[in-house]
Amino acid sequence: MRYELMLPHQIRKAIAEDWPVVLPLGVLEYHGEHLAVGMDTLAVVRLLDRLEEEMDLVILPPFYYGASSYAVEPPEGNGSVHVDAGALEPFARSLFTGLLRVGFRNIHFFIHHQTENFAAGMPTDLAFKFAARQAIFAFIEKERGEGWWGDEKMADYYAQQVGGADPFNWIKGHPLMTPEIFAQYPFDHAGQGETSLMMALCPEGVEMDKLASDKWYTRTAAEASAELGAKGRDLILAHMRQALGKRP
Ligand SMILES: [Zn+2]
Repeated sequence: MRYELMLPHQIRKAIAEDWPVVLPLGVLEYHGEHLAVGMDTLAVVRLLDRLEEEMDLVILPPFYYGASSYAVEPPEGNGSVHVDAGALEPFARSLFTGLLRVGFRNIHFFIHHQTENFAAGMPTDLAFKFAARQAIFAFIEKERGEGWWGDEKMADYYAQQVGGADPFNWIKGHPLMTPEIFAQYPFDHAGQGETSLMMALCPEGVEMDKLASDKWYTRTAAEASAELGAKGRDLILAHMRQALGKRP
């Protein structure tokens, strides 16, 4: 369900049943002449729409205003919108605090932008990961007071942590594509992989007659196809199902 369309009784049910609550996170960034600037975020949004047809899911309104950077092209006339990661962290911390206050404890974000480096982190995902940690610490301390972790009630912390049920799992970030998927599907920027994915998920954001081959990163896009995109879509959906699966 889309969060903005939910009624309070539906929200209470989602909390009681521990539904995953998912933020599609991304940027607006130049993706060559042939792809829409929202590609990285649109891919997450469209995949979540598919997933929602088969599982209970709360989909938050997408956040497009990440740190795109101007590494690919300058913004003038090209469309990238960069918001500094330093401004994202307080926003994300407030957002996560708000979601915890509503009662959600199974919060996720998916991001595609710059996630070839997800383990080490890049500015947008680092800002949201850091914000999630800060929000959880502050939320628990406000609820339970200082010394909450050392309290006898937390004696099973390490056992919980092994099972992924400790409070630091209340908010989790995921890359849209994992290294296992990169091995089977091209990870690129506006090349064959992203263009194919858009053909399969969001054909209205692709104009192949506008494709220019003067930029190295779009050169492979000429070999894009909706069929290849469908393969990527299915690989990613399998990973998303697993990432959002019921916790032990
Ligand atoms: Zn992209």
